[in-house]
Amino acid sequence: MIKAIATFLDDKKIEYSRDYALKSASSFRIGGSCAIAVFPRSENELVGALEALDGAGVRTEIIGRGSNILFGDGSLDMAMVFTGKMNSFEIDGRSVRADCGVSLAALSHTCAEKGLSGLEFACGIPGSIGGAVYMNAGAYGGCVSDVLVSSRAYDRKTGKTLDLTEHRFDYRHSVYMEKADLVCISASLVLKEGDAEDIKAKNSELLEERRKKQPLNYPSAGSYFKRPEGYFAAKLIDDLGLKGTRVGDAAVSEKHAGFVVNLGNASFDDVMRLEELVKGAVLKEFGVELCREVRVIK
Ligand SMILES: Cc1cc2nc3c(=O)[nH]c(=O)nc-3n(C[C@H](O)[C@H](O)[C@H](O)COP(=O)(O)OP(=O)(O)OC[C@H]3O[C@@H](n4cnc5c(N)ncnc54)[C@H](O)[C@@H]3O)c2cc1C
Repeated sequence: MIKAIATFLDDKKIEYSRDYALKSASSFRIGGSCAIAVFPRSENELVGALEALDGAGVRTEIIGRGSNILFGDGSLDMAMVFTGKMNSFEIDGRSVRADCGVSLAALSHTCAEKGLSGLEFACGIPGSIGGAVYMNAGAYGGCVSDVLVSSRAYDRKTGKTLDLTEHRFDYRHSVYMEKADLVCISASLVLKEGDAEDIKAKNSELLEERRKKQPLNYPSAGSYFKRPEGYFAAKLIDDLGLKGTRVGDAAVSEKHAGFVVNLGNASFDDVMRLEELVKGAVLKEFGVELCREVRVIK
């Protein structure tokens, strides 16, 4: 099956790689390999590749910059479609249109340079705009839903593209999460006019805040757990004295209890066992059920 897909991709001149190692494709630096990784450069290539993969019944996941994903170890008999090469954007006045693979942080910095305010919250979030729309990524009081006006989507079930204005956004939630068949092709944002120097100063302040509080020197996928209603996951974990708790090379960060970090050679199972340990302790002590924010693909 994968051979037939490879022939199709060769014909269409769409980039791909067989038996692709996933470790370096995830900010966690964990994972085995997938049967085929596809790197579309345009909407046409993305849709074409997905049509072929779905038509052949190949299990396929969309990957932005892999900054919120924990991949399984071993060889995953599936395809990953990486959007990182779909990376152009246009800015027209206060309107921004970005392909799904555009780096959110880079876009935030460009907008700051142009005196456009609204993406300051995103200056340190290491993902793509497509992944950020999917996750309704946010920080420091801002999130994607504050600035997104519409997105262009491909529906893998119907084979049609559509323009979405209703995204059913909530805390780390969007319509893309509800409907696994939808793929975000591009996003349109509207920002506010502001003073470039003020916006850049705000970005620097937020980046400094991250450097002070987050374990950026270790591979991770950011906050491992969602914020439970009425609590902060990191505080609950910290209050139990679990900072530094380790299973194999996976550890609760000493610097920020909400982060699980890879100390070097952590496996998928190390992270899963650490997750169970932390969840169990928090449930027992506080009666609070922690839910994983990080997406697992295994
Ligand atoms: C150090 C660090 C700090 C972080 N800080 C924050 C933070 O402050 N706030 C925050 O919200 N997150 C944070 N994160 C998590 C992560 O950066 C965000 O969730 C980000 O939006 C994920 O984008 P991505 O492109 O890497 O998505 P990926 O990790 O590649 O994918 C995440 C999910 O989105 C889906 N997806 C990706 N692209 C598309 C698409 N085009 N169409 C449909 N589905 C798609 C994937 O299938 C997957 O289910 C942090 C991560 C790290 C490592």
